[in-house]
Amino acid sequence: MLDSSLTQEIAAVDGAELDPDVTFADLTTLRIGGKPTLSVRCSSTSAVAQVVKKLDSAAVALLIVGGGSNLVVADGDLDLVAVIIEADDVTLNLSTGMVTAEAGAEWDDVVSLSVEAGLGGIECLSGIPGSAGATPVQNVGAYGVEISDVLTRVQLLDRGTGTVEWVEASELDLAYRYSNLKFTNRAVVLAIELQLHADGLSAPLRFGELARRLAVSEEENAAGEVRRPILLVREAVLELRRAKGMVVETTDHDTWSAGSFFTNPIVEPALVDSVQRKIAAERGEQEATSMPRYAAGEGKEKLSAAWLIERAGFNKGHPGAGARAGLSSKHTLALTNRGDANSDDLVELAREIRDGVFAAFGVTLVPEPVWIGVTLD
Ligand SMILES: Cc1cc2nc3c(=O)[nH]c(=O)nc-3n(C[C@H](O)[C@H](O)[C@H](O)COP(=O)(O)OP(=O)(O)OC[C@H]3O[C@@H](n4cnc5c(N)ncnc54)[C@H](O)[C@@H]3O)c2cc1C
Repeated sequence: MLDSSLTQEIAAVDGAELDPDVTFADLTTLRIGGKPTLSVRCSSTSAVAQVVKKLDSAAVALLIVGGGSNLVVADGDLDLVAVIIEADDVTLNLSTGMVTAEAGAEWDDVVSLSVEAGLGGIECLSGIPGSAGATPVQNVGAYGVEISDVLTRVQLLDRGTGTVEWVEASELDLAYRYSNLKFTNRAVVLAIELQLHADGLSAPLRFGELARRLAVSEEENAAGEVRRPILLVREAVLELRRAKGMVVETTDHDTWSAGSFFTNPIVEPALVDSVQRKIAAERGEQEATSMPRYAAGEGKEKLSAAWLIERAGFNKGHPGAGARAGLSSKHTLALTNRGDANSDDLVELAREIRDGVFAAFGVTLVPEPVWIGVTLD
């Protein structure tokens, strides 16, 4: 139980500071969510570990908060303590290409510092909001690169044993928007370690849209892996992301989101065939042939959630002016707060989209963010 003596103990931890007034509307990019019982800002990883251990020993529910960019939180009073990680040291070793970042470092700062220092490998992950410590949680990825491509180790506080140790990335079961840290609360990431490369060139450009933006020719593509100077790639990625409302801007409601709201569905090929047949019957062979479908391993295939949402009849900006929550006017996959949405507005919109896609194609969209105090079912 969180009583006054535990609150005082937490307040006395070196590097921990109570923030009595903050709400999840202040802490999240969706700008939705009520008030935790207590909020603690931790400016060192040791403070994070001590605070979490004290709360866990007293069986008090807590939520680790980084940049709040992958959180959908209920309104009202929430029976949990928000532990906000603000430890943000970043160390770059230019001769080995090794980068270490404390969990509270802003992810895009890690990318820009690395790019400025000539270290390549994460430039395609430019502009992803949130903290460095959250990047392994759902194995963040964009434009053909995932954090798993460069992540070597994470420093974890194991919440079962209370121990802090560096753990190999291979122990996290990193996969598409997944790790064994997501939804499990089993550990807190205190720091991450990345192996970048020092030749000033990007990761191989695997993503068509980015390759086209960087004028990669078909001959180059056919000849093998194409890489470009990292600064050029970072700038191109930021441009592409801004055009889709995928870089958070305070004044742009299209960016008041949790990013891509649904993951791209990974399903049996038979279901993909049936979706394609439906599209052919309703919209013609040409549209059906253009349907994105990719091999996803273990005999499964990946579909594009955004493509399905559009074909199910939901356009950018849906449901239109005056709605408190709506699809971004720049990207169908982002559910956004148009200024004064609450969690019910958002959940209602998410249900409408999920149910509409299921009714049209029999495909169940699965939300990507972490839900606190609200559910889609
Ligand atoms: C505009 C926009 C664009 C986005 N684009 C992308 C994209 O291109 N690719 C992509 O993969 N994601 C994207 N996202 C989603 C989001 O940015 C990432 O998931 C990001 O890594 C979340 O970081 P955060 O610090 O904000 O996490 P939070 O939202 O604070 O937390 C998310 C979850 O991770 C847990 N968590 C956070 N930090 C830690 C930690 N140190 N240890 C253990 N658990 C922790 C939290 O408890 C919570 O369960 C986007 C989001 C937005 C708003």
